[in-house]
Amino acid sequence: MNELRAIDRLDTGPRYCEHDAVRLNRMFRGSDTDEWLRAVIEDNLAGDLAIVSSFGAESAALLHLVSQIDHRIPVLFLETGKHFSETLAYRDELTERFSLNRIDLYPELEDLQLRDESGLRWSYDPDGCCELRKVKPLEKALIAFDASLTGRKAFQSSTRANLPRIEIDTSDAQGRLKINPLIDWDADRIAAYFEEHELPRHPLVERGYASIGCSPCTRETRPGEDPRAGRWAGWDKVECGIHQPGEEPFL
Ligand code: SF4
Repeated sequence: MNELRAIDRLDTGPRYCEHDAVRLNRMFRGSDTDEWLRAVIEDNLAGDLAIVSSFGAESAALLHLVSQIDHRIPVLFLETGKHFSETLAYRDELTERFSLNRIDLYPELEDLQLRDESGLRWSYDPDGCCELRKVKPLEKALIAFDASLTGRKAFQSSTRANLPRIEIDTSDAQGRLKINPLIDWDADRIAAYFEEHELPRHPLVERGYASIGCSPCTRETRPGEDPRAGRWAGWDKVECGIHQPGEEPFL
């Protein structure tokens, strides 16, 4: 595992605008994932890239896909301190197997002391907990990058159904691109990819976890539910704040 080097670039204003995202989506309309993703990476069409990975149920597909093109691309993992032990073991296994350039991101100690001393904020304010354990550490790390690669898929939930392959990250005003290589993959294609490349499954998948986040906020999925229905069950919350629900496509 590597450490995040000191961020040596200043925020110089928006890097990309909506027009750039539209142009890139149009450029690759009809292209297969490997073809357009390879072009984006090898032709440096989106600047400095980082993968944001939870090392969850289907993360191995994106990590393998990208590592086959360039395994040096940084993989940002949010070490919230609340993961299942199985996730941490799986993270280490995939890192080794794909020779990933993994960077673990931690919440600020001061933030934890001030806002979550008991470690139970998830139980009464999950938005606040995600803010200090996920959103802030990621925001800080992403300043060093022009675009992030996510593993979001349209079939996972209604809030992801209309996302484009490439969009502007609306979480800040820096004009960063958010790239969703698997957005048009369905469950069968993901399963076929795992089989074709003999990728290991997250150990909790066989116990009924279709989407895996922090342990206090994840339960097994029941038959007929959205794959993400087991995340923050009982709360009016569908995303951790890294991705905004209802983001509109610009195609
Ligand atoms: S998913 Fe749960 S435990 Fe993890 S950061 Fe968010 S609220 Fe906290």
